[in-house]
Amino acid sequence: MPDVLGLSIPDLQRAVREVAPEPYRAAQIQRWLWERRAASFPEMTDLPRAMREALAERFTIGLPRVASRSASVDGAEKFLLELADGVRVEAVFLVDSKRHPAAETSDGAPGTRVTVCLSSQAGCALDCAFCVTGRLGSGRNLTAGEIVGQYLVLAREKRFGPREANVVFMGMGEPLLNVACVGTALDLLAREVSPRRTTLSTAGIVPGLEALARRAHRPNLAVSLSAADDATRSRLMPVNRTHPLADLFAALKRWPLEKGRRVTFEWVLIAGVNDAPETARRLAALVRQLPAEVNVIPLNESARWLPDLKRPSPAAVDAFARTLSRCGVDVTVRWSKGLEADAACGQLRGREAPGRPKPPEIRSSGT
Ligand code: SAH
Repeated sequence: MPDVLGLSIPDLQRAVREVAPEPYRAAQIQRWLWERRAASFPEMTDLPRAMREALAERFTIGLPRVASRSASVDGAEKFLLELADGVRVEAVFLVDSKRHPAAETSDGAPGTRVTVCLSSQAGCALDCAFCVTGRLGSGRNLTAGEIVGQYLVLAREKRFGPREANVVFMGMGEPLLNVACVGTALDLLAREVSPRRTTLSTAGIVPGLEALARRAHRPNLAVSLSAADDATRSRLMPVNRTHPLADLFAALKRWPLEKGRRVTFEWVLIAGVNDAPETARRLAALVRQLPAEVNVIPLNESARWLPDLKRPSPAAVDAFARTLSRCGVDVTVRWSKGLEADAACGQLRGREAPGRPKPPEIRSSGT
């Protein structure tokens, strides 16, 4: 049965024409789906009963099922979501506890700023050396309905309202390899999340950037860089062989950046790989080509999936950030939230069965 979630108002109107012929019905149904967070047609009580029944017989509301959830003490919560065909993806709910001291105990109380991190694919073909999702291999593209469905399920579960959330496309997958559905999802989300509060993170897919640049609802752009020369970047991020740094930066210079906006570059900092002072200087020279800021993300380690990669010491993280800053770059160190819930950057792996035991950690016996 067709899913109504990913349809624009004109498409929804066409789809439901036979059972709901009046032109205002599509907008009415969308208000139920969005403002009122409805999960079923029978809830839509201002539609005639016969119409609700006819809709329920012919259409689904493809909200993913919550297969499991795990909370972290910092308020982050990871949701394992199951799609209609049984495929599983992860979405993460985060609260900005710095700006909102009350947020840690809040479930999205009025005024609380929350962030929802969405997946765009069920897996990822890019195989970045530092990312656990890449260990899964490629997975299918999510539909626009499945993308906004993640947002709506988290909105229901965490009870946040229409203008309370930021959205980041930083979950599983490469959004610019699914730019058509991600673009439709951005259009749908725009009814309650301003594109200014939406950020899309990409490994740097040049044709995808060009397609996104032409869309009306353009999110803020974050680009995962993590290396400042082609040889290192191709080793860490094989996608660099297809879209090397020169092509990527040429595309970024063409990106229609709004006044006062900047491109964010993400730099996963890995001990002995990309944390040298010389590398920081090279990075600074690269990003100074554009209005830019750099987010340094100390690697989230995984003994099981990334056994050879280590996070640098806090002193080394600090030194790297200071070198960048001395070179005139605006830099923020992002210590990931959601670490105990395995919900931090690079840790999402939706295909795993819920409750599957983790590999034993090697601990000293203390004797
Ligand atoms: N494919 C997109 C979005 C998913 S990754 C992209 O590459 O940007 C979201 C962010 O998490 C990226 O900046 C990525 O570099 C970062 N990341 C991946 N693995 C990580 C890890 N192990 N530790 C910290 N950050 C990681």
